[in-house]
Amino acid sequence: MTQQVLTDEENKNRQVDAKLFTVGPAQMYQHTLEVRRHIVPYFRTPEFSKLMLENKEMLLETMDAADDCEVMFLTASGSGAMEATVMNCFDKEDKLLIISGGTFGERFEKICEIHSIPFTALKLGHDEELTETHLEAYENQGFTGLLVNLHETYTGQLYNVEMLHRYCERNKMFFIVDAISTFLCDEYHMKKYGIDATIISSQKGLCLSPGLSLVVLSRRIIEEKILRNQITSLYFDFKDYLLNIKRGQTPFTPCVGVLFELNDMLRHIIQLGGSEKRVEEVKKRCDYFRKKICGLPVHLPSFPLSNAITPIRFEKDIAMEFFAYLKDEKNIMVNPVGGELGKCSIRVAHIGELCFDDYDILIEEMKHFFQM
Ligand SMILES: *Cc1c(COP(=O)(O)O)cnc(C)c1O
Repeated sequence: MTQQVLTDEENKNRQVDAKLFTVGPAQMYQHTLEVRRHIVPYFRTPEFSKLMLENKEMLLETMDAADDCEVMFLTASGSGAMEATVMNCFDKEDKLLIISGGTFGERFEKICEIHSIPFTALKLGHDEELTETHLEAYENQGFTGLLVNLHETYTGQLYNVEMLHRYCERNKMFFIVDAISTFLCDEYHMKKYGIDATIISSQKGLCLSPGLSLVVLSRRIIEEKILRNQITSLYFDFKDYLLNIKRGQTPFTPCVGVLFELNDMLRHIIQLGGSEKRVEEVKKRCDYFRKKICGLPVHLPSFPLSNAITPIRFEKDIAMEFFAYLKDEKNIMVNPVGGELGKCSIRVAHIGELCFDDYDILIEEMKHFFQM
């Protein structure tokens, strides 16, 4: 058996503040770290219920959601929330269209396969932009719902929400959006675009600890789907969450600490002037970085990009080497890419508490690596 125990030195170093240019966990804000210092309290109390109801109100405001939406507070990573949403909203009688332009789109396909929900995948190549022309083939085909990862984090493509909204409206489909890596990074309006379910996760745009995922549901999908569906799951039955949230509670022990972090973060965002202000902040970092990498031997894909990350493509297959160099020599983490694209591509996130100086350091390292 190999030696798995960390040396004292490794143990000391493993959490020493690396700079995180990763999309999640992201570089946390100082005020979140302050919240994390405190003891996690007991939660079946009126005080905690109040915090939860406040969380719900602030989230609906930040997401531009209708007042009669409900929020499911799930203690699960984003994929758990994706699965729970599909299970609760659809069944064998449905016919879903999945925009599948990368590994997150493929995850929706897998979920539907496991739960025997009929679907068709609209497959996109790694450099292919989703357009109206793609959707034309899927008009009036009896689809009941659309599943999309609005920002497909694998490639970095940000799909056109307005185009998808119009398509769903024309075809009278439920519109389910995994907004995990676009919420708080790009503009997001749940009500305006007729979105029936929005899935987000604590460790991405919110820059909190992992463990909390939120599903915001429209009144329409609650009444027409969720309350009518019988599902075979104890932990993920939304009907139970709907009952409990009325009194500001969840059916099971939630990630109490992350819910305190959420309360603090939403208050900060609202004080800042709302989600547009946070999006501006992210966009500034994003624009700064993209402008400064012009002239380096890299290129970006040509489809529309989210402000959350910059998907850098190198001219040679050096991505893994560059990733390891930054991690091991500089304590800087960028996001590697799995699968096929991984050899020549890394992603640099703009969502955490990073400043222009941090990006300058990263760019200097890129230059050093390319010996420019
Ligand atoms: C990060 C992410 C998820 C969730 O991944 P988990 O590891 O389960 O939290 C889902 N969809 C998208 C688009 C993501 O970026």
